[in-house]
Amino acid sequence: MSRQLSAGGTIETLCTRCKGVLNHTIVAMVGEKIVRVECSTCHGLHAYHPVKAPKGPAAAKTARTKAAAPRKTKADPEAAARAEWAELQPGLDPAQAIPYDMNRPYRLKDLLSHPNFGLGIVQLVIAPNKIDVLFQVGKKRLRCG
Ligand SMILES: [Zn+2]
Repeated sequence: MSRQLSAGGTIETLCTRCKGVLNHTIVAMVGEKIVRVECSTCHGLHAYHPVKAPKGPAAAKTARTKAAAPRKTKADPEAAARAEWAELQPGLDPAQAIPYDMNRPYRLKDLLSHPNFGLGIVQLVIAPNKIDVLFQVGKKRLRCG
């Protein structure tokens, strides 16, 4: 792969006239891309058609990337919290929110309003005096009565 391609060089590619993969002379390049070639067999000038390689390191790499993809969504709890909030938020009525008070008891699914984090939903009650609340900014563990 270290061989530097340039105009005047030779490359194996598809000749549409000969209908086969044959040696071609590179006629024109744009940057590192071959754009025009001349067939060594029929001497016809045509656009360069890259030969597709069905097997190779690139194909194997794509397969690995696909296999690893489902883990990515699981590994980001902040994104999950934001998505959960976006789903719940339209059904929330700020008028129903209980102002957050660390001495007050809360129940599951209570809607509360926090001076710093805004509206939140109680997602977990941890005995004897803690709650997990989902806010727009993410999940927070708070004290309660
Ligand atoms: Zn040809």
